[in-house]
Amino acid sequence: MYAIKVELKLNNKERTMMRKHSGYARFVYNYGLALIQELYFAGIKGSITKQINEIKKVFTNYTKKQPGNQWMNELSSRVYQYAFMSLGQAYQRWFKGLSSKPVFKSKKDGDSFTVDSSNGKVVLFFGKKIKIPTLGTFRLKEALPCCYVTQTFTISRQAHKWYVSFAVDADRIPPIHHPEESVGIDLGVKCFATLSDGSQVDAPKHYKQAKTKLALAQWRNRNKQSGNRRQGVKQSNRAKKFYGSLAKKHARIAHQRQDFLHKVTTDISRKFYRIRIEDLNVSGMLANSKLSAAISDLGFYEFRRQLVYKSQVYGTKVEIVDRWYPSSKLCCMCGSKHDNLKLSDRVYQCQNKSCLAHAITLDRDLNAAYNLLNAPSDFVRLAQPEVTLVDKK
Ligand SMILES: [Zn+2]
Repeated sequence: MYAIKVELKLNNKERTMMRKHSGYARFVYNYGLALIQELYFAGIKGSITKQINEIKKVFTNYTKKQPGNQWMNELSSRVYQYAFMSLGQAYQRWFKGLSSKPVFKSKKDGDSFTVDSSNGKVVLFFGKKIKIPTLGTFRLKEALPCCYVTQTFTISRQAHKWYVSFAVDADRIPPIHHPEESVGIDLGVKCFATLSDGSQVDAPKHYKQAKTKLALAQWRNRNKQSGNRRQGVKQSNRAKKFYGSLAKKHARIAHQRQDFLHKVTTDISRKFYRIRIEDLNVSGMLANSKLSAAISDLGFYEFRRQLVYKSQVYGTKVEIVDRWYPSSKLCCMCGSKHDNLKLSDRVYQCQNKSCLAHAITLDRDLNAAYNLLNAPSDFVRLAQPEVTLVDKK
């Protein structure tokens, strides 16, 4: 199982409808939470599942029929079913010690809600349209690449963009032919990825520019107050505008990074069958503060995570080379070790006589990529996919 998240192309009417549904989900969640708390204070005991079932009955048979709540009947009824379910799950997580006590949802938490098809799984056809059960048919920014079978849909908003995500069975996708057998990939700060076939992938420039611009905007507005209800400070119109645009910019940068990583990992997964990357030596890298900022930005972890979960989609094998394997110090031609290589040395010059005689010099990262590709098997292990369904931000 893995999840697919795609952007919706909504018009104003549809956007309003999505907001209404999110508000509905929030209303129901808070309604249930308030009643559970009241039951608790009244000393009424019982399992959470039972309590929620009772509350659901009250909601369906009484609250929903009140004259002031007519608006609920115009919205999808699957929304409130799911809101109650997620409230129950929130309590279960709290009981297990996996999260803190459920709290009331506020508008500030953002918009999201879930619907499902009550008649079992539905088929999504490839193309630029998606039919979401009980909500209707919507346009997509990018076409779905193939057909999917799924049941549950989560709609969410990030800044001004709306997304739909759904879980899919990975087994249904046919195996893909890989034109090349194996590749070693060296990740770096100077150049994002160097492949042992000689190609290089660099982080996009516009991403770097956008980050600089954002930092500047934040510095210029460093004295703006976002408002504080307790202290009675109201948010100014300019501050409101600024924080709104800030959220947009942050989202944009996150998208650019995610876009870049998805493109790179998909390309690699399509082309190669056996993919070897270095284990990330985080503690070693974080000791160097300048490097650590660059590394956390580039998303090496996310790169590896995507490669690993795409291995289930594209039928690849992702192998991790032990961090103690000196991939950057060995000479890929003769295998001799070159210990005093500095981080600033961009070219690998082997000191061995035979290599010196042939005047062999190699790009440092390419040398490392070759070494990863040819690493002895006792340094290599197969990467295990994490159990996460939805892409991390
Ligand atoms: Zn050599």
